[in-house]
Amino acid sequence: MPDLRVAVVGSGPAGVYAAGALTRTDGVTVDVLDRLPAPYGLVRYGVAPDHVKMKSVDVALRKVLEQPSVRFLGNVEVGTDVTLDELRRRYDAVVFATGAAVDRRLGVPGEDLAGSFSATDFVAWYSGHPDADLDRFTLGARRVVVIGVGNVAVDVARVLSKTAAELSPTDVPGHVLDVLDASTVEEVTVVGRRGPAQAKFTTKELRELGELANADVLVDPADLELSDADLGAVEADRTLRANLEVLREWSTREPAGRPRRLWLRFWLRPVEVLGVDAVTGLRTERSRLDASGRLVGTGETVDLPAEMVLRSVGYRTLPLPGLPFDERAGVVPHASGRVLTEAGPLTGVYVAGWIKRGPTGVIGTNKSDAAQTIAALLADAPALPRVPERDPDALPALLAARGVRPVEWTGWEAIDAAERELGVARGCDRVKIADRATLLETAARPVTADSGTRPS
Ligand code: NAP
Repeated sequence: MPDLRVAVVGSGPAGVYAAGALTRTDGVTVDVLDRLPAPYGLVRYGVAPDHVKMKSVDVALRKVLEQPSVRFLGNVEVGTDVTLDELRRRYDAVVFATGAAVDRRLGVPGEDLAGSFSATDFVAWYSGHPDADLDRFTLGARRVVVIGVGNVAVDVARVLSKTAAELSPTDVPGHVLDVLDASTVEEVTVVGRRGPAQAKFTTKELRELGELANADVLVDPADLELSDADLGAVEADRTLRANLEVLREWSTREPAGRPRRLWLRFWLRPVEVLGVDAVTGLRTERSRLDASGRLVGTGETVDLPAEMVLRSVGYRTLPLPGLPFDERAGVVPHASGRVLTEAGPLTGVYVAGWIKRGPTGVIGTNKSDAAQTIAALLADAPALPRVPERDPDALPALLAARGVRPVEWTGWEAIDAAERELGVARGCDRVKIADRATLLETAARPVTADSGTRPS
C-alpha cells in the first residue's frame, strides 16, 4: 500500500478498533483525534466503574494507540477546533467514530423538572466525565424511579443501590464517593413500558442486581405473566428465557431486610413526570401490547412517588458539521461504512460504531463494525486522491495557531500515572480525575519515574 494518511475521529472502541485494523496494512499512518483529553470513549466514560473486567478492554485499546504508526491527539474537537474540510486537506481519508453523545428525550410533561435527569448525565457524572458538573448530583432523594429496562438502566440502578464502601475499590472520583456516602436513597424502581419479554437488558447484567449486598431486589409475579405471543418469543430466545428464569426466582424470594429495595416493574408507560418545582413522582399508565404487537394504554393510571427520576431510554447521535445525517434513523447514511450524500459517496470519508449503526450492541460489536468500514476504506485506497499536505506537523501547527493544545500520548501517560498515584492513596488501582482543567494541567506535566505504575 502506498503511503496513506488517515484521521480517525473518536478514540472509543469503534475508533480504536478502526485504527487497529488500519495498522495491519503497511504504509498507513493514523492520527486518532478525540475532543476529550483522555482516550477510550465509553470504555472510560460509560462502562460502570464496578464492571472492572469490561473496563479492562482498555489494555487492548492502549496497545493500538501505542503503535508507532498511530498518534493520539486528545483535546481536539472536530467541527470546533478544526473542520472536516481542513482535515480532508491534510488526510487522505477520515473515519468518524464519534458515537452517540446525548440522551433520547422522553417527550412527556415534567421531563425537565428539577430532580429529573437523563441516565446519560448520571453515568457521565459518576464516570468523572470532564463535561459533567462535579456538583450535578446530590442523591438527597429517598425514592428514585429509573425509566427504561436496558443495560444502562441496570447500571444506574446498581450504582444507586451500592454503598460508597462497595464502590471505593473502583476508579470513581472522590467527589462521587462522597455523594454516594451521603446518599439517602432507600428505594429504586426500574420501570419498563413493555413486559419482561421485551426488556433490553442482558442476563449477566440482570443477575448482578440479585447479588447486591445492600439491596433486596423485588419483582411482582403478576408482571411476569406472559401472553401466548410472548411465550413463543421467550421459548425461541435464550437470553429472554434466562432473563425470565432470573426474574421468576426473584418474584418468589422473601426480602432479606437489606437497607435498600430495588423494584423491577413492567407494563407501565410514562405519562408525566409529576411535581411543581421539583419531582414528586412519575405518572404512568398501565400498558399492554395489542394483537399487532403495538404498545397501547389500558387507561389505568399508576403513580410512582419519587424525588428523583432518571430517564434511561437510550442514547442518540447528533448531526456533525459537514456530514449528511438521517434524522429518523439517527445515524450518518453509509454503505459498508462509506459516507453517502444524496449526490453519492463522500470521497475518503467513513463512519464506524454508533454513528454508523445506532446505539446498540456491546463493546465487541464495534470490532466487526470497524473492520467492515476499514475493509471498504482499504479497498478504496488505491483510487483515493492523495492530499498534497503530508507533513504530520501540519495539523498540530494549525491547532497551535488557534490556541488549541492537543494532548498527545505522553500527555495521556501523565494523566494515567497521576490517576494511579491517587489510587495508591485510596488503596485501589486508579482514581479518575474528573475536572478538565486538572486533566490538561496534568497532561502538560512530564511523567517521572516514580509517578504511578502501569500494568504490563
Ligand atoms: P437500550 O438497550 O436501547 O434500552 C432503552 C430502554 O428504554 C428500553 O427498555 C426501551 O423500551 C426504553 N424506552 C425507550 N423509549 C422509551 C419511552 N419513551 N418511554 C419508556 N421507555 C422507553 O438502551 P441503553 O440501556 O441506553 O443501552 C444502549 C446500548 O449500550 C445497548 O446496546 C446496551 O446493551 C449497551 N450497554 C451495555 C452494557 C453492558 O454490556 N453491561 C452496559 C450499558 C450499556 P422499548 O424497548 O419499549 O423501546
